[in-house]
Amino acid sequence: MFSDERIQQLNADRLGDPELKPELVQKVTRLISLAKSRGFSLVVTQGFRSIAEQNRLYALGRTKPGKIVTNARGGQSNHNKGTAVDVAFVVNGEVTWNDSLYAKLGPWAAAVGLKWGGNWKHFKDKPHLEL
Ligand SMILES: [Zn+2]
Repeated sequence: MFSDERIQQLNADRLGDPELKPELVQKVTRLISLAKSRGFSLVVTQGFRSIAEQNRLYALGRTKPGKIVTNARGGQSNHNKGTAVDVAFVVNGEVTWNDSLYAKLGPWAAAVGLKWGGNWKHFKDKPHLEL
């Protein structure tokens, strides 16, 4: 269960990571405010990832059990460069993965100058935002 205070704290902690580029932090902060002004809560679920973490994710669905979650090996993801975050919608205190909600991220990202992973042709990554 995520209260508004908890979401704010998580976002402050995750966006406060010095590995993230200041321009990204600024734009994501604006996007979170824009969402809030429309009545939606966004929580940053992931920001910077080390190369080892990226390789662990890349292994899922390939050499490790699970679903494929990324096409980027360690070093290839913008998460490894501090120029990407993933976000989730929180509705009534719960994280939700409802596709129609995530579709809102496209225009909001464009409005603040971010790219949205949902526009990618080969591997749609709807929670993903990057510079
Ligand atoms: Zn991502």
